[in-house]
Amino acid sequence: MANCTHDCSTCSSNCGSRSKTSLIKAPHKGTKVKRVIAIASGKGGVGKSLVTSLLAVRARAQGLRVGILDADITGPSVPKAFGVTARATGSEDGIYPVETKSGIKLISMNALLEHDDDPVVWRGSLIAGATLQFWTDVIWDELDILFIDMPPGTGDVPLTVFQSIPLSGIVIVTTPQDLVEMIVKKAMGMANMMQIPVLGIAENMSYFTCPDCGKRYELFGKSKADDLARAYHVPTTARIPIDPALSELMSGGRIEEADTDCLASLYAELLRSREISSRQD
Ligand code: ADP
Repeated sequence: MANCTHDCSTCSSNCGSRSKTSLIKAPHKGTKVKRVIAIASGKGGVGKSLVTSLLAVRARAQGLRVGILDADITGPSVPKAFGVTARATGSEDGIYPVETKSGIKLISMNALLEHDDDPVVWRGSLIAGATLQFWTDVIWDELDILFIDMPPGTGDVPLTVFQSIPLSGIVIVTTPQDLVEMIVKKAMGMANMMQIPVLGIAENMSYFTCPDCGKRYELFGKSKADDLARAYHVPTTARIPIDPALSELMSGGRIEEADTDCLASLYAELLRSREISSRQD
């Protein structure tokens, strides 16, 4: 490319030099993770943190050692969903994540700020750096699965995560009223560029079940998840209903009490993904 600076971290072009340069970073020496799954969405507010939290809750309930890396630095909502207010501690060696009631390890910007409502007013490059430190400087110990709650969109931070952390795969969260096609295309493009498989599409707010008559209503239009999955060869889809109980559990810090059955097949697909040792070389 004519204006190449030879710094791939500032450029998303899929040129010849990129394919020869691995930007994958090693985790902290006290970390041994089998699978890293990123949960991504095209825009905010579609339920990415909800899906991340529910998948982590399901994995933990099945006895796995689970972590959540909250990379949504400027709008971290995972600690609130779990009712975690503790601050992360550190030593010369690194940073120790906090733990939820059921024992899910969690690192989030909120666990490092003095007050939960302190704003993070940083440039993209600083935010990307902080996210990477959650991988390189946090002592995760041994985990079967680490979920990364990505910031929405396809900007600096998602790009850094995709390039630097060895992912087993990604899950894309959408809603039926989203411009799904465009968003999925963008996310697919990014994932393909980095050779990371898209393991599933989670369609949130997919329908509402009337509590009186049990009838299902597709409030935001007909579900597009299965058509999309077929078109883009994505192995699974999950449909999550609009459920006031879910938002109550999230805002009350009790997401560990939620029913996670709607994510059963997606979760099973995650377990079939390859382990990251094969992506670290
Ligand atoms: P994102 O991480 O994509 O910004 P969140 O997971 O934080 O989105 O969800 C945004 C808000 O919508 C939260 O208050 C959450 O409780 C609510 N919400 C998300 N999905 C549902 C759902 N299926 N039913 C009810 N409320 C939901």
